[in-house]
Amino acid sequence: MIFNPEKCRIPDERMKPFIDPEELWSLINETIPNATEIRSIIQKSLNKERLTLRETAMLINTTDPALVEEIKEGARELKKRVYGNRIVLFAPLYVGNKCTNNCRYCGFRTSNKEAIRKTLSDSELVSEVEALEDHGQKRLILVYGEHPEYSPEFIANNVRLVYGVKKGPGEIRRLNINAAPLEIEGFKTVKESGIGTYQIFQETYHPDAYKLYHTGGAKRNFEYRLTGLDRAQEAGIDDVGIGALFGLYDWRYEVLGLVRHTNHLEACYNVGPHTISFPRIKDASSSLKIGTDYTVSDEDFVKLVAILRLAVPYTGMILTARESAELREEVIQFGVSQIDGGTKLELGSYAENSVNEKQNLNREQFQINDNRSLNEIIDELLKKDFLPSFCTACYRLERTGQHFMEFSVPGFIKHFCSPNAMLTLAEYLEDYAPADTKTKGWEVIEKNIHDLESLEDAVNLTELRKRLLLIKEGARDLYF
Ligand code: SAM
Ligand code: SF4
Repeated sequence: MIFNPEKCRIPDERMKPFIDPEELWSLINETIPNATEIRSIIQKSLNKERLTLRETAMLINTTDPALVEEIKEGARELKKRVYGNRIVLFAPLYVGNKCTNNCRYCGFRTSNKEAIRKTLSDSELVSEVEALEDHGQKRLILVYGEHPEYSPEFIANNVRLVYGVKKGPGEIRRLNINAAPLEIEGFKTVKESGIGTYQIFQETYHPDAYKLYHTGGAKRNFEYRLTGLDRAQEAGIDDVGIGALFGLYDWRYEVLGLVRHTNHLEACYNVGPHTISFPRIKDASSSLKIGTDYTVSDEDFVKLVAILRLAVPYTGMILTARESAELREEVIQFGVSQIDGGTKLELGSYAENSVNEKQNLNREQFQINDNRSLNEIIDELLKKDFLPSFCTACYRLERTGQHFMEFSVPGFIKHFCSPNAMLTLAEYLEDYAPADTKTKGWEVIEKNIHDLESLEDAVNLTELRKRLLLIKEGARDLYF
């Protein structure tokens, strides 16, 4: 079965399963890369065109170290062109770990009797958000197990509550969700509360492998999960996030699965996913020995991130604290646009304000490997001349979904993204940063303004400087 991008424009093809393992495997088995083709594929991506499945398979099958380096270099260059040096920061907030499913890799699975179950009460949720605001966070993702208690109404109430929490100069301006797939009506309820992205990871795009790992509860149904984000789109949520849990099955197949999912959403809804996540399995409470055959090495991980960057040039890519600080620093340059900072997974632990404490896996979903504070991460990013950003402007100005123009409008970055990154960083520096971070941060802002000066037709720099000054004088929430 060859992918026909027009196929899903027929409404009947929406919400139908779209993964054909034979198709994906034949692309992997029958595609033989050569240097000329690989270079023209990299060039196509640098021209900001999404790659086909076959082209992606060519990159996947490239093993010649010199060509793999060219792929990585292409991804590095594309990232610079599309995202500049911005890195968007966020934090996950676990609301409840009750779960009726039995995903063998997850500490929350229903059969794990060691897990200590908890759902945050309203006042606990408020305390968590206040603690996160005190650190300077502006963007959160609420995370849930799958349980009747976590209904669409419950999630929507949480969202409204979180947006209402304002501690000092703090506020949450964008709230994303990672929770179970819903029915269309449920998605509508959640959308009305004002969420940003709804994320659902398929975990593995291989139906047989999926069966092995998902042994209980509603999540056993591969196809219901696969079409979850179609239902979100039908409900009007045009900002969705996809992901695969690497280590469950062959990484080469999963990369094609993610690209296939992207094609499907684009063809059916005229808009691909807003973000792609690519977590690798980490230890979890009473973890069953998982994934030894498919464990993804660091080397393959870097390669797959670079390939994904090239395959879907305009999609945000998220790398979480599951990975170590060193690896995150390496992988960021090949295409990651968002990372979490100051992450804590234990329910209620942000409000406890403990620092770098050893994790108790019976209270958490899995082991994290980067427990730096938000400010430590910002310091490191600044040292490497990245521009940390808390920007939420597009979503608040309804520049989302097919209207999300970051990629297609010429000069979008220099008009909106970079200036907004500077404005939100400036707020952070004024409100939350220690003195040395503040000094370094303003230097980085100056340097970025200087870089914009040399570009034709960038944002009005006089206006940008004026707004930065206003922030120094106490104004907040200014954006282009
Ligand atoms: N319960 C919802 C679900 O399964 O869709 C919410 C998601 S779960 C709390 C967030 C994601 O964490 C899962 O989709 C899975 O990919 C990932 N995850 C689960 N166990 C993991 C582990 N041991 N290591 C790394 N990631 C894990
Ligand atoms: Fe439950 Fe999600 Fe964990 Fe599966 S991954 S056991 S659904 S919390």
